[in-house]
Amino acid sequence: MSSPLKIAIIGAGPAGLALARLLQINNITCTIYDLEADRNARTQGGCLDMHEGAAQQCIRECGLYEQFLAVARTEGEVLKIYEPNGTLIMDEGSDLGERRPDSFKGRPEIDRRQLRSMLIDSLYPGSLQWGHKVVAVKTDPTGRTAKYDLQFQNKLETGFDLVVGADGAWSKVRHLISDVRPQFSGITGVDAKLSNIDTVNPALAKRVGNGMCLTLGCNTTVLSQRNGDGSVKSYGFFRGTEDWHKTCGIDWSNVAEAKKEFVRKYYDGFNDDAKNLMLLADDDDFIPRPMWMLPVGHTWAHRQGLTLIGDAAHLMTPFAGVGVNVAMEDALSLATQIKKWKQNVWDKAGPSATSSLLIEPVRAYEEEMFVRAEAYAKETMMYYDLFFHERGGVAMCEQFAKAKAEEKAKGDVSVEVTELSLNTAVEA
Ligand SMILES: Cc1cc2nc3c(=O)[nH]c(=O)nc-3n(C[C@H](O)[C@H](O)[C@H](O)COP(=O)(O)OP(=O)(O)OC[C@H]3O[C@@H](n4cnc5c(N)ncnc54)[C@H](O)[C@@H]3O)c2cc1C
Repeated sequence: MSSPLKIAIIGAGPAGLALARLLQINNITCTIYDLEADRNARTQGGCLDMHEGAAQQCIRECGLYEQFLAVARTEGEVLKIYEPNGTLIMDEGSDLGERRPDSFKGRPEIDRRQLRSMLIDSLYPGSLQWGHKVVAVKTDPTGRTAKYDLQFQNKLETGFDLVVGADGAWSKVRHLISDVRPQFSGITGVDAKLSNIDTVNPALAKRVGNGMCLTLGCNTTVLSQRNGDGSVKSYGFFRGTEDWHKTCGIDWSNVAEAKKEFVRKYYDGFNDDAKNLMLLADDDDFIPRPMWMLPVGHTWAHRQGLTLIGDAAHLMTPFAGVGVNVAMEDALSLATQIKKWKQNVWDKAGPSATSSLLIEPVRAYEEEMFVRAEAYAKETMMYYDLFFHERGGVAMCEQFAKAKAEEKAKGDVSVEVTELSLNTAVEA
């Protein structure tokens, strides 16, 4: 029996799309609404590393793993760290310095656009409604049901049993279940894309390499990532104020001058390569980007018919590179709960079934997610401090070495335990 419940997913980002796919392949109908006009309406930003066991498991369950492997870039898994003067202190491509701990392995990169397209193409035709900006989620005006209406810019859709806010940082669903708003993270700067880097500046392309390239100064960084389309996305970030981009005196409408002024003011002491990653950026892709976050450990009391997944639930800064992974794990967790509920409760309940039966599976997802998201948010805060450290990249390399030593110690203990149990088995 297919579920007659009316489910809306707000937002066609990785979280919302993955949830829609997982529900649909389990014969649970849903509609996904996004404010954008179509999939190409906005450039989708840089690439994302998809972790084994979190995002990759979600992709497997979506039945899209082969397609993912066809576009995923394992060669993008390498990291380089430079000091501002141009000294390379770590390079996983050439084994200079310590490599990151093994827990960083199995994280191929995928361009955001490719991930999104793969998921969009997997949905039932007509189930993704573009050009639908939710302006308000309304409760039943009669107060007699726990159903919700969606107010779009120019129409109203009524009678939803479950509304899932997958609409990112500035969710229009969140305020119905939580008073908490995103807060400024203390980090600000610019987002810059340099297209066709192999042609524009082959030496700079070589400097970045195939993966992520960090230039870490005292509280100031240039974080660059090679994308599958031949571009490099760089973020020039530092510790600043929420309104820095408005008060810094840089005229962002004059991009050529803004690039020079930004680099002159904030990257004094950085070598030309680090500066060129921003100075040579495309003129239509050099934008200020203050970073926002929800508090670590954000939770709410369950409210029937509403929930949040992805950034809407636990917006984090990108410094541990986990946001999309947590988001896709949310989609998998919620879909699994709803699927189990459909099989074990709804399909057996027959005519006596009511949407209040959905409370338990959604609550179970939330309780699992709160714990998982908090752990990722704490990890993110640890890397936040390492990206913006008084001792620059040295502090990050020390952390990797410490984590590697811990990993090795754990490995040694498990080897000893295995040997011990083998010996015991022999003696016995
Ligand atoms: C600079 C930067 C770099 C990052 N790098 C990484 C990384 O390397 N690895 C990683 O794991 N994560 C990274 N992240 C985090 C990652 O991008 C997010 O965690 C991820 O995109 C969250 O997915 P989502 O689906 O929850 O939200 P989003 O991707 O934000 O999608 C939300 C969707 O909702 C739609 N929407 C919004 N409002 C409405 C509305 N009112 N009505 C209808 N639709 C609406 C939007 O159009 C959008 O399609 C980075 C983030 C930033 C800012």
